[in-house]
Amino acid sequence: MTHTESAPQSHATSGTAVPITVIRGDGIGPEVIGAALRLMEEAGASIDVEECVAGAKVFEAGDQTGVPQETIASIQRTGVALKGPLATPIGYGEKSANVTLRKLFETYGNIRPAREIPGVATPYSGRNIDLVIVRENLEDLYAGIEHMQTPGVALSLKVITRHGSEKIARLAFEFARSEGRRSVTCATKANIMKLGEGMFQRTFDEVAREYPDIESRQILVDNCAHQLVMRPEQFDVIVTTNMNGDILSDLTSGLVGGLGFAPSANVGSDTAMFEAVHGSAPDIAGRDLANPSAIMLSSVMMLRHIGQPAVASAIEDAVLVTLEDGKFLTGDIAKEHPPVGTIAFTDAVISNLGRVPKIGERRETRALVMPPSSWRPKVIEVTKREVVGMDVLIEESHMTAAQVGTAVEDCTQGGPLRLQIISSRGNKVWPGDTDDTEMIDTWRCRFIRRDESVEITDDQIYHLLSCIGAKFRWANVQKLQVFDGVAGFTKSQGEE
Ligand code: NAP
Repeated sequence: MTHTESAPQSHATSGTAVPITVIRGDGIGPEVIGAALRLMEEAGASIDVEECVAGAKVFEAGDQTGVPQETIASIQRTGVALKGPLATPIGYGEKSANVTLRKLFETYGNIRPAREIPGVATPYSGRNIDLVIVRENLEDLYAGIEHMQTPGVALSLKVITRHGSEKIARLAFEFARSEGRRSVTCATKANIMKLGEGMFQRTFDEVAREYPDIESRQILVDNCAHQLVMRPEQFDVIVTTNMNGDILSDLTSGLVGGLGFAPSANVGSDTAMFEAVHGSAPDIAGRDLANPSAIMLSSVMMLRHIGQPAVASAIEDAVLVTLEDGKFLTGDIAKEHPPVGTIAFTDAVISNLGRVPKIGERRETRALVMPPSSWRPKVIEVTKREVVGMDVLIEESHMTAAQVGTAVEDCTQGGPLRLQIISSRGNKVWPGDTDDTEMIDTWRCRFIRRDESVEITDDQIYHLLSCIGAKFRWANVQKLQVFDGVAGFTKSQGEE
């Protein structure tokens, strides 16, 4: 049976082996995964490989997901996967097999280390960069909830949950402990997005109290990007929301030589998938040109995860020694010596097993303790929740702000809600002078209850909405709620 058939194929490397699912993937995937498997076997890793398929060939065979049922069953069984890059061929399905796998197995944390690579010269060489980005992997703007409000106005929903924030904060601290790291920094934009990023930050602070052995710090993500460029060696573990982490982790890969050396882990409560950050590089596929360093370093992460830290460190050292020696390097990094192929590079790494690189201290690690799968966040109990108003987004391109205000205010006559403010892209345009605000065709009208002792009912909301709907096209409605006296909504710029 070849690796392109969909039934899992099993072969053990030694003794009481840990079962893992291996997906060779597309393009250079089979070459680099083959190199990593050979290296692990030579280093004495105790793994029982179950080979499965996903990606281009699966799409081409007519499976719209790119991930066959046998592969899903194998990962469910093993809980650990080492995967090569997966391509989504044009014309076959919309969803990437990578994203399908991440969502299917709820791998909520993306862990991307960035460590100075010996022999890979960068402007930061010699400064001992050794940091890790722990990125929330499922929520935020990547929930993919977007709506066009008008043909020219899009809203992309940023979803942050207390549940997701607590899980990723806990994972970051557990990861820091597993690697003997001293600090975790939470990078957010909590100064602007006080509810979403703010909740992430506040949750981090609460979780941090459970880890008094590790220093916890807060930083605004823009300053974090600046500090990473100015003084990256100050960081140890950085935990952050999905989009912040996406950007920061590419930045940190760049600090240490680029994506070619960037390993990663996607971890969930029951499943962990390890992969290089780079893609299938079809231009060099099948030509013995690919650099397998990133997948080899991903294997190191996997071996630590499954509790084989000694083999992991031996492999890590051998890869780093080979890069440091600089005699047998692939074409993407070879400078002083003629380049070698993937196979010859792997031979060199294998021959360097047992050697220790000159730079960097050996980090003592232990297996990552995952927050248990039965774990649930504390339920956020409130004694009182009230609806105090609503926001309605309306479309209008001919009237002035004053005219919109008058027309909308008319609908509130005799009702329990009054028009408080109209804003355009978050800026107040009514009441008052709006000369400096550039208008677009959507207006957010905020209605607040007249009497603070009376809660607003759904019927009152429908009634007002039907009056507005008779005059304007409306695109969305949002209830304004107060939880135990704390407003669950933000104010517009200029709102009292
Ligand atoms: P890419 O595959 O990472 O390749 C970009 C270029 O980087 C390659 O053409 C090659 O450049 C170089 N490169 C990447 N990895 C290398 C390695 N190990 N050794 C040597 N050179 C390497 O990015 P892409 O071209 O944007 O994506 C190609 C396909 O991969 C797409 O279908 C994409 O969807 C998929 N992809 C999958 C994953 C994943 O599965 N996690 C991630 C990213 C992309 P030169 O030969 O020109 O130097």
